[in-house]
Amino acid sequence: MDFAPKPSVEEFRASIRRFIADHLTAEMVERAHRTGTFHDWDFHRTLAATGVIAEGMAGPGRATGRDPLELYVLFDELGLAGAPFYGLANAMLVAGIIEQIGSDFHIREVLPKFHSGEAIAALGYSEPGSGSDVAAAATRAERVPGHPGDEAVWLVNGQKMFTTLVHEAGYVILLTRTDPDLPKHRGLTMFLVPMDLPGIDFQAIETMGGDRTNITYFTDVHLPDRWRLGEVNGGWDVMKVALAYERGVFGNMNQGVTLLRRFAEWARTAERSDGTRLIDDPGVRRRLARIAVDNEITGLLALRPALLASQGRLPTTEGSVAKLFASEAYNRAAEACQEMAGTAGLLSPVRGDGGDWGFVDLAARDAPVTAIYGGTSEIQRNNIAEHRLGLPRAR
Ligand SMILES: Cc1cc2nc3c(=O)[nH]c(=O)nc-3n(C[C@H](O)[C@H](O)[C@H](O)COP(=O)(O)OP(=O)(O)OC[C@H]3O[C@@H](n4cnc5c(N)ncnc54)[C@H](O)[C@@H]3O)c2cc1C
Repeated sequence: MDFAPKPSVEEFRASIRRFIADHLTAEMVERAHRTGTFHDWDFHRTLAATGVIAEGMAGPGRATGRDPLELYVLFDELGLAGAPFYGLANAMLVAGIIEQIGSDFHIREVLPKFHSGEAIAALGYSEPGSGSDVAAAATRAERVPGHPGDEAVWLVNGQKMFTTLVHEAGYVILLTRTDPDLPKHRGLTMFLVPMDLPGIDFQAIETMGGDRTNITYFTDVHLPDRWRLGEVNGGWDVMKVALAYERGVFGNMNQGVTLLRRFAEWARTAERSDGTRLIDDPGVRRRLARIAVDNEITGLLALRPALLASQGRLPTTEGSVAKLFASEAYNRAAEACQEMAGTAGLLSPVRGDGGDWGFVDLAARDAPVTAIYGGTSEIQRNNIAEHRLGLPRAR
C-alpha cells in the first residue's frame, strides 16, 4: 500500500491550515466549549465563502467535487485545531443528500442556502424509543385528508431525541412513519422541515461530555408535500444515503491525538510529590507510547473509507471499523491519562479565564459519549460481524 499522500491533498491540507490560522480564534474555541454548541456562524460563513460546501464531494451520484481524501483532511485539520465544525458536517451531509435525491424545488430553494453558509441543518432520526433501531421511528406524518389546492399537506406529530444543533438550524431532516401497517423499514418517509413552521419546539439537553443537544417536539405541524425528500415510504433509502455519508468522511476521529499532545506537554512540567517530573516515569512513558500507537492505527483506519471513496468505490463497513476502534481507543487513552494525572485529572474545566482547561477530566467525560453518537460501539460490532465477517444476523 502506498502511504504517500497525493500532492493535491497535501496542498489542500496546507490551505486549510492557513485558513484556520487566519480565521479561527481562541475565543471561538472557548465559546464552543463553554456553550456546548460546536458551531460558529462567523467561522462557518467564512469557510463556506471559500466554496468548500458548494464544491461538495465527488463520488457515486456526483461527477464533480472535491476528492473524498481532501474532505477527510478538512475534518481532520478542523478537529485537531478544536474548530467548531458540527454545523459544517451537517450542512455538507444534507447538501449531499439533496444533490442526490432532492427535487428541483429543494435544489433551487434550499441548496444555495447550505452552499453559502446561510443555513445549516439538524438530523432528526433518533427518538426516545428508537436510537440504535432507528427504523422503528414513530414520529407520524399523515396526509391531511381533502386538503384544498393542488399540493398534499402532511400533519406531523412526534418527538425527536438528540437533535444536535437544531437550535441553530434552518432545517431538520426528519425521519417519519407514514404507513404503520407496512414492515418497519418500508413505512418511513423523509422530509426536510423548515424550522420556522408553527408547531415546532425544542429543549436543550446538556451531555456529560459538555456538548449541547436537544429534544425537538412536533405538534400538528402542517408540512406541504414539496418538503418531502425521496419517495413516500422510501425514507429508508434516504437514510442509507445519509448513513453512508455520516460513517464515511464527515467527521473527525482524532480526539486521542489532541489528548496525547496536551497530556505530554503537561507531563513535561508536572511534578510528583517526590519532586520528579511525571514524564520521567518509565511507566508513564510506556502508557503514552501505547496511546500514540492507538492514535496511529486510528488515523490509518479513519483514512480507509475516504481512500475507497477517492478510488470511486463505496465504503461499507470501513466506517464502522474506524469508528469502533477510534472511540474504544479514545476511552482507553482518557482512562489512562486520568489515572496518570492523579488528582489533577479530576479538576473540572475552568472556562473562559484562559487558565487550565481540566482537559483530562473533559476527555474522560467526552470519550464515553463518542461510543454512543453516530451509532454505539455495540451496533458497530453488529454491523462488522454481519457485513464483514459474515456472522449470523443479530436479533
Ligand atoms: C451527544 C449526542 C449527539 C447526538 N446527535 C444526534 C443527532 O444529531 N441526530 C440524531 O438523530 N441522533 C443523535 N444522537 C443519537 C445517537 O445516534 C443515539 O444515542 C445512538 O444511536 C444510541 O441510541 P439510544 O440512545 O436510543 O440508545 P439505545 O438504542 O436505546 O441503546 C441502549 C444500549 O443498548 C445497546 N443496544 C441497542 N441495540 C442493540 C443491539 N441490537 N445489539 C447490541 N446492543 C444493543 C446500545 O449499544 C446501548 O448500549 C446523538 C447522541 C448523543 C449522545
